Amino acid sequence: MDERTLTLIRDVPDYPKPGILFKDITPLLGDATAFAAVVDELAGLAEVDKIVGIEARGFILAAPVAYRGGSGFVPVRKKGKLPAETLEESYDLEYGSAAIEVHRDAFAPGDRVLIVDDVLATGGTAAATVELVRRAGAEVVGVAVLMELAFLKGRERLPGVDVHALLTV
Ligand code: 5GP
Repeated sequence: MDERTLTLIRDVPDYPKPGILFKDITPLLGDATAFAAVVDELAGLAEVDKIVGIEARGFILAAPVAYRGGSGFVPVRKKGKLPAETLEESYDLEYGSAAIEVHRDAFAPGDRVLIVDDVLATGGTAAATVELVRRAGAEVVGVAVLMELAFLKGRERLPGVDVHALLTV
């Protein structure tokens, strides 16, 4: 990604909690050229059967990536949001834990899957999603994010997984 794209991701201090510097991607999403470039680059990474988007900002990128690449789209959602039978995976947060779900029948056996999210931070969300997709019978081809916060070492939670970040800070 070019330097201009990076400038369209804004730092918001003390969000969602004091001491956290949040990377806000909404200025990039609002820029037609940058948004299209990001979607095109993510869609060119791999030929897959399904793109998995992680709620909620992951959906914004994953759905157009799926359309662009001719793949299906599968949502991974916070617990309690999907209507049919689900598989669930819990993961630790700084304080407490969170759970995500996918529909049990979201994949055909052996489907090749690319997981898409906006930001890779500690890697907990992505690692739980990899586990969920595998348990649902699909093959994880990789995890692709717009931005990786490398100092949080999220990749270490994803051993053996091909992680691709368009931007790294
Ligand atoms: P992790 O589980 O890797 O610590 O956190 C990644 C998840 O939290 C992603 O789903 C991402 O949307 C969200 N997230 C964590 N930090 C940030 C941030 O600074 N900016 C944005 N846009 N999302 C973040």
